[in-house]
Amino acid sequence: MEHVAILLAGGTGSRMGDVSADKILLEINGRPVFSHVLKAFHESETQDGLIVVARDQEQQRQLAAIVAREAVSLPVYHALGGSERAISVRNGLACLPPETRFVSIHDCARPAVTPASLKALRAALLQANGAVSLAHRITDTVRQFASDPVLGPASGQLLAREKLWAMETPQAFPRTLIERAHRLCTLPVTDDLAAVEALGEPVLLVESPHPNPKLTRPADIPFLTSLLSRQPMNASQPPFRTGLGYDIHRLVEGRPLVLGGVTIPAPFGLEGHSDADVLTHAIADALLGGSGLPDIGHYFPNTDASIEGIDSQEILARAIRETSRMGYRLLNVDATLIAEKPRLAPWLEAMKERLSGTLGLAPSCIGIKATTQEGIGALGKGDGIAAHAVATLSL
Ligand code: MG
Repeated sequence: MEHVAILLAGGTGSRMGDVSADKILLEINGRPVFSHVLKAFHESETQDGLIVVARDQEQQRQLAAIVAREAVSLPVYHALGGSERAISVRNGLACLPPETRFVSIHDCARPAVTPASLKALRAALLQANGAVSLAHRITDTVRQFASDPVLGPASGQLLAREKLWAMETPQAFPRTLIERAHRLCTLPVTDDLAAVEALGEPVLLVESPHPNPKLTRPADIPFLTSLLSRQPMNASQPPFRTGLGYDIHRLVEGRPLVLGGVTIPAPFGLEGHSDADVLTHAIADALLGGSGLPDIGHYFPNTDASIEGIDSQEILARAIRETSRMGYRLLNVDATLIAEKPRLAPWLEAMKERLSGTLGLAPSCIGIKATTQEGIGALGKGDGIAAHAVATLSL
């Protein structure tokens, strides 16, 4: 585990006013700010592990739930922060696995960081073998004042704009350097590069290829919303996607009949490796297909004995996690069941309710109809039940 990123989530957000008690958990484009950060680090493939530093145990519990939902395949460790940023960094450094050689430190209030930026930073880190930071050039004219020029007229000094840079995160370091810097630094510093500079060490900047603003005030939310909506896996992806699912199972005696997560009293049920919930399978495939992912057989092969008899709501929950991992949000689902028997109309509302819980979608955004095959063909003879589903996803 050579490269480890410390993700600082414990900022107080004091300038956010009443908008959010915790800006890291605030949802932008349907996902918490912290999810966007996780996704960027995960997709960048620049790290071998992540250390999430939370403000307190309650926030740690919420962040751990997001990590689980995002299905991050990297090892993720959790640490508790302190009253100041530097203490949180030190607590994160104390959790580094022994074999760590390089450390990135990121402020989770910057959710628009991109995999491309993270790759560029890592390349610079390996080249410099010293402190590196994402940064951008200052484009405003900047003056420095000895006293507050808002409170009264003051003499200003024009600074040479072409020499000014604004620091972002992540910043990255060889482990030994950042550990030494934080051990020796006694100055109050607002970033980690400053602790390294206090040692007299030079630093290398990487000009951010994409805007990477910090969520500080409520007014930052619209800009971040726009940035994050334009930041799919690849920028040319359209904002909406449609997925199609189809499934069919044979009716047999002596099995429970489960449709849409609801067990329907009947002397027969559907045959299958799982609970054979044909409707839930069709919806799961619509979600996966709309996200450009393989079908449920890929995630739950019927050769896997450990998932025999599995509740198909678990399959659907996995599909929704995979969809969200790809950056998509489910907008609506529509499905049609084809069953000659039993009569399904009395159960459709209960199915909607059950699927609503699993999908995290209002029942009004779920359509379920039932029809017969009018006696035509195998389905018409009652040999099985089939389901079609479509899902609409947005970035
Ligand atoms: Mg099936």
